[in-house]
Amino acid sequence: EAKGAGRKTWCFYASDMNERIIQRNQLERDLRQAIKEQTLHIVMQPRYHISSGRMIAAETLVRWYHPVRGQLGPDLFIPIAEETGLIHPLSAWIMRSACLEALTWENDVRVSVNLSPSEFRRGDLVAKVRDVLQETGLAPQRLELEITENVMLEDADRALEVMHQLKALGVRLAMDDFGTGYSSLSYLSNFPFDGLKIDRAFIAGLGESASSQAIVEAVIALGSALDLTITAEGVETAEQLEQLKRLGCFEAQGYYLDRPMHPEELRKAMKRAQPVGERS
Ligand code: C2E
Ligand code: MG
Ligand code: MG
Ligand code: MG
Repeated sequence: EAKGAGRKTWCFYASDMNERIIQRNQLERDLRQAIKEQTLHIVMQPRYHISSGRMIAAETLVRWYHPVRGQLGPDLFIPIAEETGLIHPLSAWIMRSACLEALTWENDVRVSVNLSPSEFRRGDLVAKVRDVLQETGLAPQRLELEITENVMLEDADRALEVMHQLKALGVRLAMDDFGTGYSSLSYLSNFPFDGLKIDRAFIAGLGESASSQAIVEAVIALGSALDLTITAEGVETAEQLEQLKRLGCFEAQGYYLDRPMHPEELRKAMKRAQPVGERS
């Protein structure tokens, strides 16, 4: 009786696992193909200076329109790209596309790109960034690289060295999703960051939980003390933006201000150039 049930369970898990492996392998094959045929695309989400309403930067986010499964988000395929090494050609393509896009803007809005921890593990990240800057001719200070805390956890000494080399190229570095990882405050002062993005989980809690507000306040104070540009991520309401303004946060990004959009759409938005504060 019990034996039979046990075997049944085992069979269930085995076929479930097989199913997942098959799906994953299929996705890997499709991703390889998509990178080769360049059928992935980028969207860009503006980031604004809160008090003046000026657009400061636009973050590059990769998208995949899968022939069968439809639009897939990066959380689904970036992990596969990392496991398989496909992240390297993919992210070189994303960075180049982002820089070329920024060159078409008739302003000095910066462009930011997300880096994966696995790119830090490989020895050629600095050369890759240098090559992209050289090939495209984008002024280095207009490129910002977003790095999550994991990068520093894996091999802090190595990460520190790579980050100093990146700074020597003239690019800006921002810590992404701040508050969600395990990084200690010492990382912030020891690593050459220019900016820090407060994870949207804390912004979502503004006006709802006293602890979120306390954390956001503390991060803003810390950021000012360390001379970091603080960005609030995931701003979804007017109230959140108002609070952030009151708390002295510099910059904001989120659906309330703009959704990630196609590069052509962003170019049009830049031509209209309406400050955030003056929206309906
Ligand atoms: P991230 O770098 O923290 O990017 C911000 C994410 O929050 C994006 O999700 C964006 O669409 C979403 N977002 C923006 N405003 C709001 C808002 O107001 N509310 C909510 N709920 N969400 C908002 P997305 O595009 O799905 O990207 C997820 C993550 O995938 C990114 O987090 C980043 O870590 C990674 N990623 C995206 N593009 C790339 C890429 O080109 N390379 C690498 N290595 N990672 C990428
Ligand atoms: Mg980011
Ligand atoms: Mg983030
Ligand atoms: Mg993230």
